[in-house]
Amino acid sequence: MGERDSKAIKKIQATGLMRKLMGAYFQELDEAARTGNRKIAWCTSVGPAELLRSFGFLVYFPENHGAVLGSSRMAQDLIPAANARGYSPDICSYLTSDVGSYLKGETPLKQAFGMAGVPRADVLVYNTNQCRDVKDWLAFYEREWDVPLIGIDTPRGLGDLSRDHLDGLIAQHKALIPTLEDISGRAFDLDRLKEVVASSYRCTMLWKQVLGSATHRPSPLTFFDGTIHMGPAVVLRGLPEAEHYYEVLIQELEQRNADGVAAVDGEKHRFYWEGMPVWGKLRDHALLFSGQQACVVASTYCNSWIFEPLGSDDPFEGMARSYTELFIVRSEDFKERYLADMFASYDIDGIIYHDAKTCPNNSNCRYGMPQRLTRTTDVPYVTINGDLNDLRLYSEEQARTQFEALIEQLHEQP
Ligand code: SF4
Repeated sequence: MGERDSKAIKKIQATGLMRKLMGAYFQELDEAARTGNRKIAWCTSVGPAELLRSFGFLVYFPENHGAVLGSSRMAQDLIPAANARGYSPDICSYLTSDVGSYLKGETPLKQAFGMAGVPRADVLVYNTNQCRDVKDWLAFYEREWDVPLIGIDTPRGLGDLSRDHLDGLIAQHKALIPTLEDISGRAFDLDRLKEVVASSYRCTMLWKQVLGSATHRPSPLTFFDGTIHMGPAVVLRGLPEAEHYYEVLIQELEQRNADGVAAVDGEKHRFYWEGMPVWGKLRDHALLFSGQQACVVASTYCNSWIFEPLGSDDPFEGMARSYTELFIVRSEDFKERYLADMFASYDIDGIIYHDAKTCPNNSNCRYGMPQRLTRTTDVPYVTINGDLNDLRLYSEEQARTQFEALIEQLHEQP
């Protein structure tokens, strides 16, 4: 396959600002861990971060660390340490990478941000909307550090969200308050929560605009750019810095669209990525596709951080809806309708399903969905077997052959 050199990846200028903001975020956490000047809450990535911020907690997201361990390719060396502790090689490789990182005392955060290590939690807060692994993951640290583990148990496989579902979830959010008051030493402040949720809502709408810019032909950004630039939407949502960042990024992307600047020069094919990224192969994949003038313009993964219900007048209802109405929580029928709409909105020519061995929750190709969607949308697809973090489960050769097969299919189309 004719790959281009690294110049084929077009640098987004706003990346410098993002690195600065992410650096400041990690350094604040590091200082808090060293001095105890602020309390630290660990939160699952689609968990009640806004509620935690309203109490003044600094919020740390272990899944973000999982992704960093994957993209730095440290994961392979760390996963066996977690396996030796009884955490199976078949469960979430974010979990096993992160637990291995803790057991070996190794993290790329030290080198990247000068941190002493991963910041220790004062409280661990989960939402099982994505999977059970997140709860088991935080339970490891509950045992290690003897700190409280609290959270929200969300039903999964939902079609429509009923009033009963919502009321139960709102009650679960409110039930967290006494523990958070205790640990933070602050009384719950509804006005503060409204401010944080409103900021998070503005952030989410800006992030939606960022991703929506890729409906333009040619697209100004790729899925691989998106996985990097979603950082602030994941770890800084609810803070003004995240809003500022996306305003800057949108300006740049709009300018690209106005000037007809493509993320992939000579964009010929537009692809959709369904499933987790292969973090240790992001750059290779970006080059592989751009070498074929193919742009992966959209994905379920990046779109999962759009939480429109945060605009609700009631912040509890906004959080409960946002963290339950997301794709991963929904029924097969809902997911099929969602994907068909995405293929149409982004004018998709082909789909790549990533069957991530250790994340069945984000792999949607195991129960016939690609075949059903091809019948209704007529968009061709391929499936690659791999993993988010464990590169021992990924075959470069197989993935390359599959990508090539998809491009061939498109060339053969009339
Ligand atoms: S959704 Fe998948 S990747 Fe995310 S924590 Fe759960 S198992 Fe891991």
